[in-house]
Amino acid sequence: MKAVDDVTLSIKRGETEAIVGESGCGKTTLGRSVIRLLEPTDGQLLYGGQDITHRREKELIWLRRKAQMIPQDPYSSVNPAFSVFRIIEEPLIIHGFKDPDERREAVYKALENVKLNPPEFFAQKYPHMLSGGQRQRVAVARAMILNPEFILADEPVSMLDASVRISILKLLRSIQGRFRISFLYITHDLATAKHFSDRIGIMYAGKLAEEGAVGDVLREPLHPYTMALMKAIPDPDPANRHSLREALPGEPPNLVDPPSGCHFHPRCPIAKAGLCDVVDPEFRELRPGHWVACHLAQ
Ligand code: SF4
Repeated sequence: MKAVDDVTLSIKRGETEAIVGESGCGKTTLGRSVIRLLEPTDGQLLYGGQDITHRREKELIWLRRKAQMIPQDPYSSVNPAFSVFRIIEEPLIIHGFKDPDERREAVYKALENVKLNPPEFFAQKYPHMLSGGQRQRVAVARAMILNPEFILADEPVSMLDASVRISILKLLRSIQGRFRISFLYITHDLATAKHFSDRIGIMYAGKLAEEGAVGDVLREPLHPYTMALMKAIPDPDPANRHSLREALPGEPPNLVDPPSGCHFHPRCPIAKAGLCDVVDPEFRELRPGHWVACHLAQ
């Protein structure tokens, strides 16, 4: 069984790549593999040209500084007994920053960067005293404290109210621009991926179905699964709203025993018998920089 199979991605400095797909499609496994929280069984992971695929943990200390993560639920990933100050300060302690004044200054600066002002006020709070949006800002400040080059943001706004969601995505976008950070943004929500990303990968049953610049993929989707996801984007006009279930009947396959041929063929409205159920489509560059895994895409 492979949760993620045959996925090739390359993320440039200062660029955001979104990986979009339904629950259980392997996108979280992919994200965790990219920063070596999971060790891939095969394939190759390069970070800044260095092969990190099978490095031991003690050889990855430099990566643990350069690559950070913003979790889906900041509440479950922090010690509730720690103050905001201690939560944000912790990575500095782990990475050997010995001067307390330097650490304090860095924590206050990080709080300012995520717009938790005045920083002295928020630093002494505890997680349960904050709103969901404020807690996620603390998670962003913690991820930023070591001046990372890369951030894995795994569904960072999916547990927030719609109004707060936009403000957190705007914050991430501005941080990305100011500090030239690369993001891998994992989400099931095509609408937020559209506003937050430069490139987008559509994932289905452990494989990339389509990948390219956001504008290209959303203007001219080449894969039937991307087309179905686009129909499900919530529209301000209720008459135009579709759930993914309406747009795409059936269930995603079980990754333990995926169907032969194209994994999408049992749900694909244009599947061709004798081809799609037998032959796994190649992931090919159909337009410059726009890739798709579909026999019939043209
Ligand atoms: Fe549909 Fe066949 Fe294309 Fe798969 S390869 S997406 S089943 S048309």
